[in-house]
Amino acid sequence: MFGAIAKTYFAEKFNIPADKIVVVSVMPCIAKKYEIQREELKSDGVQNVDYVITTREFAKMIREAGIDFTKLPDEDFDNPLGESTGASVIFGTTGGVIEAALRTAYEWVTGETLQDVEFHGVRGFEDGLKEATVKLKDMELKIGVAHGLGNARRLLEDIRDGKRFYHAIEIMACPGGCIDGGGQPYHHGNLEIVKARMNAIYEEDRRKPIRKSHENPAVIKMYQEYMGEYGGHKAHKLLHTHYTPRESI
Ligand code: SF4
Repeated sequence: MFGAIAKTYFAEKFNIPADKIVVVSVMPCIAKKYEIQREELKSDGVQNVDYVITTREFAKMIREAGIDFTKLPDEDFDNPLGESTGASVIFGTTGGVIEAALRTAYEWVTGETLQDVEFHGVRGFEDGLKEATVKLKDMELKIGVAHGLGNARRLLEDIRDGKRFYHAIEIMACPGGCIDGGGQPYHHGNLEIVKARMNAIYEEDRRKPIRKSHENPAVIKMYQEYMGEYGGHKAHKLLHTHYTPRESI
């Protein structure tokens, strides 16, 4: 998604031809190295993201360059799109993507301000398959969350067989979500490390002055200046994708 924005919104804003921009994503995920080459993630035949390096590779590069992060001064991210919210931080853990979506859905559906933004029913590492019911005024939303491929299969097969019904589901392939992605620093089976990453993410979310995606001033500005209406044609073209079956290897 960010690659598509960099090569359209960013390119236009700074008057740089899109083919002169190289997008490098630092990811927790090894699968992204393949995914950026998929046709569905190209715009007019051009890759949105040119290179993916994993967080583990990035950490190694930092070490090799002799950079000590603890001695660096704190800095904000570069603009545009240099502002982030608590909702974006929690994307990294199981339940986080759906919780971020719920924070926005609640306010857009009810027209009311969400006072407590934490949806604890979708959180947690222990249950591979979580269910929660969320009230949006008179509406009750049924949410399903799976992490780990075995749980994802169970969830999807149960839905297919009519054993479960949800209004929305979230699936993360890795146990715990991206915090335990294949590109992350090794933890050698010590799940306490994964739980510590999860706690760190929620702590960071709590510290953020803005915790809902739709209140991010950088995102609002991008929609006003470039993207148009939420869910409109441009947003749909650049920010959504679909997947087609690929041949088995
Ligand atoms: S859950 Fe795992 S496979 Fe899915 S995006 Fe995150 S790191 Fe990649």
